[in-house]
Amino acid sequence: MNVSDSERIATFLEEQGFSLTEKIQDADLVIFNTCGIKQTAENRAYSMINNLRKAELKAKSQKLKAIIMTGCLANRADVQKRMKTKVDLFCEIKNFPESVSCILYDVSHMNSKIQNICPKLILGMKYEIRNTKNILSKEKIDYLSINPKYQSAFSAYVPIMTGCNNFCSYCVVPNARGREVSRPAEEIITEVKDLIARGYKSITLLGQNVNSYHGTWSMKHGAKALTFTELLKKINAIPGKFWIQFVSSHPKDMSDELIENIAKLKKVCEWIHLPVQAGDDEILRRMNRKYTQKHYLARIRKIKSAFKKHKPAALFSISSDIIVGFPGETKKQFLQSATVMEKTKYDMVFFGQFSPRPETVAWGLKDDVSQAEKFRRENFLNEILKKTAFTNNKKYVGKKMEVIIEKEKNGSYFGKTRTQKNVKVESKKKDLLGKIIKVQITKANIWNLEAKLN
Ligand code: SF4
Repeated sequence: MNVSDSERIATFLEEQGFSLTEKIQDADLVIFNTCGIKQTAENRAYSMINNLRKAELKAKSQKLKAIIMTGCLANRADVQKRMKTKVDLFCEIKNFPESVSCILYDVSHMNSKIQNICPKLILGMKYEIRNTKNILSKEKIDYLSINPKYQSAFSAYVPIMTGCNNFCSYCVVPNARGREVSRPAEEIITEVKDLIARGYKSITLLGQNVNSYHGTWSMKHGAKALTFTELLKKINAIPGKFWIQFVSSHPKDMSDELIENIAKLKKVCEWIHLPVQAGDDEILRRMNRKYTQKHYLARIRKIKSAFKKHKPAALFSISSDIIVGFPGETKKQFLQSATVMEKTKYDMVFFGQFSPRPETVAWGLKDDVSQAEKFRRENFLNEILKKTAFTNNKKYVGKKMEVIIEKEKNGSYFGKTRTQKNVKVESKKKDLLGKIIKVQITKANIWNLEAKLN
């Protein structure tokens, strides 16, 4: 989501006359699009900003960089207090165009008031205001409607919503990004059509909980709201050869109808990321996840049976997120996460050691599982994952399948299957980057596959 947001921020600033620099040292304005999901991510942002300011001091630089902090940390009072001498402007991502437009508006009118607030943002900065329409009208611009320049020329992230209403007890997102807002369906469809016309091969729909998408479908279509299933059907119907993927789903909102359609729609890939977070019902209740282990495993059975019914010849994959060491998680409760892993047989799991986040319910709970025990639990689950991922990968050997090539390094190509498996492809052919090619899988490893050109 942050990669996608940064693409929109960069495009917005380019439209105002700024240009991207190759090196951070050359920049007049530096935007930190922060992540606050874990303490480590937060610390990284602080240390990058501090290092930048230290380098200016050391160089006795006359011209200081203007620093804007946005993303998950920008709205937190404790962060603003801590970083107020280093950061010139804190702004929420959804208000980014508006906040920055206001500053540019004031600059363009030489309003002295703003110079007191943010002098570095004005002095010494080279830009010409090219597109004054939005700035001078001070219109509220929805940042999701900005048509971004994508970092990749063949694979694009398309946000379909932002924010979240679920308030899982450990999660900063509802506070950091605000309540759930769905993008109008037509805007999403127009963006995807445009990408496909420009040759993009892979579209990843983004949202904190895509299953609860509820975007307007314009007046000319009778002013209704589309569900995520309906949105997937409409994107699937766009002509052209491309893949559709999406993250993240929530087990409580994953309906039978949605699962059937994911498995049925041709362009939707055979991969579902369904975060379980914990296997124990009491821990799930205290995480405010609003489902039980039984419900989750029933969703997994439904996913497996739907893929087998609609795409019997295709392999499919399931991935998840699991937090270890949630406050009060006993060893017995932790072992329920292992049970879910054994039963689901995941292809990939992203583990997180519980890290208390300010302004969440779990912040007030005693973080009573030691760091060493969190490491031990993560390693224990990782051993289960290694076994299931390797067993699943072995099913690919000898199979012919499509791979999208994402990288070329040292004479080999690296890409992904429709099931999100990393594949190393040996080929003497040139210009495969960004293409969907047919390969034959020759070897399975724990974390990746090897293949030759078919
Ligand atoms: S569903 Fe829960 S974990 Fe996911 S973004 Fe919303 S609050 Fe956070």
